[in-house]
Amino acid sequence: MRVVLIGFRGSGKTAVGKRLAGALRLPWIDTDAAIEARAGMGIPAIFAERREAGFRALEREIIAALPADGCVVSAGGGAVLDPENVAHLRAGSAVFFLRAPPAVLEARVRGSDRPALTAFSPAEEVRVLLAERTPAYRSAADVCVDTGERGVGEVCEAILSALFAGTVPRASCLRSLDAIVRMVPSAAERANLCTLLCSKENPLRRLFAITGFPCAHSKSPLLYNHLFSRFNLNYYYTLLEWPDVGDVIDLVRTLDIRALSVTIPHKSVVMAHLDEIDAHAAAIGAVNSVLNCGGILSGYNTDWIGVKMPLDDVEGSRAVVIGAGGAAAAAVYALRDRGMEVCILNRTEGRAAALASRFGCEYGPLAALPALDADVLINATPVGMGDDGRSPVPQEHLREGMCVFDLVYTPPQTPLLAAAEKRGCRTIPGTEMFVYQAKAQFALFTGIEVEPALIRRLLQ
Ligand code: NAP
Repeated sequence: MRVVLIGFRGSGKTAVGKRLAGALRLPWIDTDAAIEARAGMGIPAIFAERREAGFRALEREIIAALPADGCVVSAGGGAVLDPENVAHLRAGSAVFFLRAPPAVLEARVRGSDRPALTAFSPAEEVRVLLAERTPAYRSAADVCVDTGERGVGEVCEAILSALFAGTVPRASCLRSLDAIVRMVPSAAERANLCTLLCSKENPLRRLFAITGFPCAHSKSPLLYNHLFSRFNLNYYYTLLEWPDVGDVIDLVRTLDIRALSVTIPHKSVVMAHLDEIDAHAAAIGAVNSVLNCGGILSGYNTDWIGVKMPLDDVEGSRAVVIGAGGAAAAAVYALRDRGMEVCILNRTEGRAAALASRFGCEYGPLAALPALDADVLINATPVGMGDDGRSPVPQEHLREGMCVFDLVYTPPQTPLLAAAEKRGCRTIPGTEMFVYQAKAQFALFTGIEVEPALIRRLLQ
């Protein structure tokens, strides 16, 4: 067993780590102390001599060389900002994020000799760094434990209980079997999941799921379960296909499901059931990712990153988006984030007008396309999907050098992309949006960065 404690300075990692190591009869490793021993000087001297970059380099070496098993590790407060550290800390470990309100942390670290990392006052520094680091702590943890109002003994008890009894009371698991039977679309998967929940072995295995209606066709379980075993994470990803997302969220809370991918038709409706919505998701008006940190459910959107990243090296300042639904909102947000002028064209012009007014864009009917001279054209309608042999844009309206991104991803080569290639356009298939949104979502759910090439390979 390897237990890793992460969190801000003052969250209790040292006191809890020592006590926990004693209770488990395991050695305790404090990465900051290991860095000081390696450097032969204290942390203030390391910062003075080698600056923060030198300290972080030592920290990476120490974390990469930690024993794979049989210890309790208290990791430095900034360690999880580096995804490689997260991958090392997580492999085969149970990771606990010890959190506390800023005022509590500030009172606990007052008078510390640790060097300042910002030009702010100590109290302000706690607030600024905590806001910056909390997303990384949440993503990198298996379990979030509040230490604000608990003593060291109580926090240790909570951790030991999670390690040996799991995060979900057995009665809740048994009560939820009925909901699982209703929501999980295949008999084999239902049996698998019921066995997993009823088993007393491996109690800390955390559940993840995709929810939508339908979503049985989703490739996400295959992708995620492969990545979980590749990074040695004690996780399992399943499907919850159900028309009422409120019921799904109830199950997430009861079973303490760690995170949820959300797909059509739940992306907007789910927002009302969550405790927090991040700023990007709020602006887009849709959530495709939910992270559960100690019962607080936060909503995020990674679809817009899936549109933004494949366009990273595309030049030009004018874009046209065809469609005005959820995918179009993510696309427009991504293009506006790149500083592009956007015109939204849609079959129902009123919907284009409504979306355009939210993002400060132009809009029009589909017939306006020939008059527009765009550098980037994005199809955010289902036209061309599956057996639909139509293209949403006649070939003569595509011009050489234009970048055409079709968000439809089945088939990968759509009629629009085939026509665009013939016209000498640069083309981006919808599979790239899936790859980059999945990369961002995996980082959100685990704190680990995956190469896009690996995701592409796993999806083939
Ligand atoms: P949505 O919210 O239902 O919006 C669909 C849009 O397409 C609406 O603007 C609709 O126009 C328009 N449309 C539908 N049928 C049309 C037709 N026959 N001719 C012209 N316009 C038509 O759907 P969405 O969630 O935005 O998804 C749109 C597409 O993006 C889907 O094909 C989906 O597969 C794709 N997508 C891809 C990814 C990825 O990872 N690659 C992710 C999300 C979505 P009206 O307003 O007139 O109805």
